[in-house]
Amino acid sequence: MILPVAWRDIMASFTGGCTCGAIRYSCTGTPKLSLNCHCRDCQRLSGSAYLAAVIVDRRTFTLTHGLPHYYTVTAANGMTKQQGFCQHCGAPLVVMLDERPHIIAITVGSFDDPSLYQPQADMWVERAQPWDVMNPALPKYPQAYQRA
Ligand SMILES: [Zn+2]
Ligand SMILES: [Zn+2]
Repeated sequence: MILPVAWRDIMASFTGGCTCGAIRYSCTGTPKLSLNCHCRDCQRLSGSAYLAAVIVDRRTFTLTHGLPHYYTVTAANGMTKQQGFCQHCGAPLVVMLDERPHIIAITVGSFDDPSLYQPQADMWVERAQPWDVMNPALPKYPQAYQRA
């Protein structure tokens, strides 16, 4: 999959954090993937139809202030993941798959500038709610994203 030019240029690094400011992060890695996930876990995590997230190399993600709290969720495909949030304001920040320790997913809502986000695909669309609205131009995956 080819990253849009603007994504490559703008997203060389970005910053973000939680709502109350207790947790801040910076990321120096261009996202490997940017996905809207419609699974039930992400519906609960976002409090809405889907979670918008970017996946980066974990070594490029740095917490610059505070530490998230983590809880474990077993995904529909059996994989366990650690979901990190601010214990003060509740803002969801990161998701880490235990089977993929080299990557981390960062919630786009926690970006300082979420307008930078350029989704590449919708995943777990078989779990999407009937009132969910998706961009018809994006590739759709019934379950997890599979690299072509
Ligand atoms: Zn907070
Ligand atoms: Zn999901």
